[in-house]
Amino acid sequence: EVLNKIIDTKGSIRVFCRVRPFLLTERRPIREPVSFGPDNIVIRSAGSRKEFEFDKVFHQSATQEDVFGEVKPILRSALDGHNVCVLAYGQTGTGKTFTMDGTNEQPGLAPRAIKELFNEASMDPTHSVTFKMSMLEIYMGNLKDLLSARQSLKSYEASAKCNLNIQVDLKGSVEIEGLTEVEVPDFTKARWWYNKGRRVRSTSWTNVNETSSRSHCLTRITIFRRGDAVGSKTEVSKLWMIDLGGSERLLKTGAIGQTMDEGRAINLSLSALGDVIAALRRKKGHVPYRNSKLTQILKDSLGTRSKVLMLVHISPRDEDVGETICSLSFTKRAR
Ligand code: ADP
Ligand code: MG
Repeated sequence: EVLNKIIDTKGSIRVFCRVRPFLLTERRPIREPVSFGPDNIVIRSAGSRKEFEFDKVFHQSATQEDVFGEVKPILRSALDGHNVCVLAYGQTGTGKTFTMDGTNEQPGLAPRAIKELFNEASMDPTHSVTFKMSMLEIYMGNLKDLLSARQSLKSYEASAKCNLNIQVDLKGSVEIEGLTEVEVPDFTKARWWYNKGRRVRSTSWTNVNETSSRSHCLTRITIFRRGDAVGSKTEVSKLWMIDLGGSERLLKTGAIGQTMDEGRAINLSLSALGDVIAALRRKKGHVPYRNSKLTQILKDSLGTRSKVLMLVHISPRDEDVGETICSLSFTKRAR
């Protein structure tokens, strides 16, 4: 039984799934709940069997190179003038940040993508290509500029710009008022800014693992491409790389007060994102961008002329099967 069929190679939305390996501290069950083929996932639990299809599945042994290899073509689209969104979705602890950032030894998608953009740009014989970068966090509907913080990170709360407004111009381009945009002349400088943004994000939380999962972290690379011929116009496109807030449901954690508000804000914006993607998939009718800050910001990058890659992350553990099915079902809406 195939519950969802999201394969649409001609479409502009692709959905991949990555299963995280068991950690050293985790006991491997005798019968693993998750099994898979090259483009499907089968979940067995409590006597039921559910199957989900994807454009691509990365199992436990997939390396960062493997994942990047499949994402690379979309970077070409960004350089060719399309707006592109790469989003990491999933329950907290399933490897979203590992996929996007990685570690020093195993760098993730973002550093690899940035490096690749510089490589490709340097090999383009007919265009001059330059890049700018911005990073922001969305927390409870509030936009925080991650690259504006000055001096010591301790003063981040005081110096980072918060509560930025979203503007849409007549041509439909989205801009975030006052958001810091730094020029990045080379990979080294870009990585330096990227690491700074990530550090600012994590230090603005008292307990990184507990709370950073309740915000979305967005990195935007703006690409300026000008033909070398006299009179050529500059083409501008954007590449978004997004580490989404944890998709786990609220009840399980028994969250109360602030924690519950944070969780609710994340759940609302993730379902708004799901609604937008589902509407785009149907290719007709109203697309409800207005329902969250996340979808407002991405309005010009989650559209018919843009490319979207959703990376759904799941856990291999028995205890997480409920959340795993929820995450996999999320993609069903993108049908
Ligand atoms: P999330 O950002 O979704 O909350 P993390 O990226 O922090 O999850 O991953 C949780 C833990 O699992 C981290 O210790 C991370 O290093 C590890 N991990 C996740 N994915 C992988 C993977 N593919 N290979 C090795 N370790 C991984
Ligand atoms: Mg994370």
